[in-house]
Amino acid sequence: MNDPPLVDSHLDLAENVTLFGRDLTTSVAEIRKAEKRTSGQATVSLPELERGGIAVAVATVTAGFLAEDVGEDFEPRSAIYRTPEEAEAQALAQIGVYEGWEEQGLIRIIRSAGDLDHHLRLWQEDCKPGIVMLMEGADPILRVSDLPAWWERGVRMIGLTFGDTKYGNGVAGGSPDFREGGLTPEGVELLGQMAEMGFIWDVSHLAEDGIWQGLDLNVPRVCASHANARSLTPTDRHLSDEVIRAVAERDGMIGLVLYNGFLEPRWRRGGPVTVTLAEHLRRHAEYIGNLVGWGHVGIGSDLDGGFGFEESPEEIDTVADLRRVGDAVPAEARDAVPGANWLAFLRNSLP
Ligand SMILES: [Zn+2]
Repeated sequence: MNDPPLVDSHLDLAENVTLFGRDLTTSVAEIRKAEKRTSGQATVSLPELERGGIAVAVATVTAGFLAEDVGEDFEPRSAIYRTPEEAEAQALAQIGVYEGWEEQGLIRIIRSAGDLDHHLRLWQEDCKPGIVMLMEGADPILRVSDLPAWWERGVRMIGLTFGDTKYGNGVAGGSPDFREGGLTPEGVELLGQMAEMGFIWDVSHLAEDGIWQGLDLNVPRVCASHANARSLTPTDRHLSDEVIRAVAERDGMIGLVLYNGFLEPRWRRGGPVTVTLAEHLRRHAEYIGNLVGWGHVGIGSDLDGGFGFEESPEEIDTVADLRRVGDAVPAEARDAVPGANWLAFLRNSLP
């Protein structure tokens, strides 16, 4: 019998392959050796997910980066999209990565609640991670009428924005000057169709006005795959108390991000402030737990999503250290937060 299964509700696995050229089928040590980086060192690979007992990862499918968001100096240039068709092509290539891994027996793609339970039984024997595909930023969806095709390819969660997309105003990495504006008419249409088809809506990276527009549409199956408490990290990238309550009222989930700058606003690269799971992660988890109950708190680490080893809490060497989140929360929540809460949400929300 393994330890209880862990869930990470946000990992940019395919993006690290298609945009940054990492081979995630090797060990983190090998990736670090090959890259020789001094910041943003790798923390995630498939063997590391296996070793760490991460049974399920919500894994992203992205458009890459919009040219006007990142500017002229951004590398690699191949990660940039300028047209909807380029966004679509990036996303399809990333789905291809997950399908390739599944064919090689390295992961299992989870498309339904039945798949999830079947996967968890197999996981007890082989420790292969299962993935649920999340589209982060909906620019790859050229028309609302394309949604069934994305469902067919296995996408089960969608966040409408990263930066701005044609579906709404996004907050990207966040700003203390709160971004105004919400969903476009196409965004409202897309969300309505998503709700009808059974997609899970990820509110992360959406300007708060847009979150309220969607909540007013009574979209079922709501989560924030990766966001922290705004009261503690006061930018629009994080969730206000009112949004946290509204997500919880809809039986939704919030995955906490393990980026130091999101856990502790005073943290600076190379600065004197040390961020830990025991203090800082616990603070965000307790804040939300006290506000709406422990049943809505999970981990959406986003490790290697624009940051890495040097920018993550002290206890984290690789993603395999996620289990230590259990030690950082009160005993009553030590199984719920690192895994059980997300598993319950996915079981209820997947078709
Ligand atoms: Zn993100």
